[in-house]
Amino acid sequence: MRDPIADLRRIAFLLERANEATYRVRAFRSAAAALGGLTDEELTDRATAGTLTELAGVGAVTARCVAESLAGAEPVYLRRLLATEGADLDDAAAALRAALRGDCHTHSDWSDGGSPIEEMALAAVELGHEYLALTDHSPRLTVARGLTAARLRRQLDHVAALNAALPEGFRILTGIEVDILPDGSLDQSDELLDRLDVVVGSVHANLRDDRARMTRRMLAAVTNPRLDILGHCTGRMVTSRPPGVTGPGDRGHRARSRPPSDFDAQAVFAACAQHGKAVEINSRPERQDPPKRLIRLAVEAGCRFAVNTDAHAPGQLDWQRFGCARAVLCGVTAQHVVNAWPAARLLDWTAAHRSGRAG
Ligand SMILES: [Zn+2]
Ligand SMILES: [Zn+2]
Repeated sequence: MRDPIADLRRIAFLLERANEATYRVRAFRSAAAALGGLTDEELTDRATAGTLTELAGVGAVTARCVAESLAGAEPVYLRRLLATEGADLDDAAAALRAALRGDCHTHSDWSDGGSPIEEMALAAVELGHEYLALTDHSPRLTVARGLTAARLRRQLDHVAALNAALPEGFRILTGIEVDILPDGSLDQSDELLDRLDVVVGSVHANLRDDRARMTRRMLAAVTNPRLDILGHCTGRMVTSRPPGVTGPGDRGHRARSRPPSDFDAQAVFAACAQHGKAVEINSRPERQDPPKRLIRLAVEAGCRFAVNTDAHAPGQLDWQRFGCARAVLCGVTAQHVVNAWPAARLLDWTAAHRSGRAG
């Protein structure tokens, strides 16, 4: 039998040691104090009835930890902290990178990438990948030469021909980075989306939608059976760069920042977890999206992840290490990362969404 109060105190201790924000620590200390006054029976009854949060000092997160603890499981929040505690993060990031078998978000010169598909594929082979999902943009992103339905059909034929010529043990997966439109629908026909191996859905326009509207929009997208991965979910742009990256990027504009869009991340990540969708950890230096705070929230929600490069050129396929470094800081482990799976398992997972299963 676990002691839920001891678990809350342990979490507070680990947060303090990691020098996390005081308000986060206080949430656990206050909950431990509030619940410490109850008898075991009162605690169990309240947890069963879902009334723990009626007590002053007990919030939804701490109540969930208590419920997990009473059920005999290590609270997810605690597990995340223990996963990063004392770990050599460089080693952990390298281990996660080594566990990745492919990349689920890349662009070619069919949309706004700089290189032909075959060059991207050969670079992926050299990096040791088993697969590369080609996810060029969708029609309405005209600035990025989004593919019309007709061009995407041609691309599918082209990829089939390339795959026939590529080395055994490697394949290009078909895909798209489909725009999540203002009403939450996806910017490509259902018939074509159904044919693709991997569908990444991203918001590129109307990033300043108000919170309620953006939340509805994203919930509509992640609950759509045709979406597999939620791409760069906040749309933010940052000016800081990881070590070794100095340039402003290849996107034809100078380094500029953009705040994250506003949405109810807890609700969106809960929907991702429920429907078996992956939250992308976008490795691009100018994106670093989602921010670490949100990656932690997604870990706590029980989400899967995809550590993607969003590469627009072959050399950028090596940027996964940036995403891995951020992921391990937040307690993401390889077992929760869909592109650490072999291609067959990845494809089972995406096929499960189309047939209405969580996968
Ligand atoms: Zn994008
Ligand atoms: Zn992209």
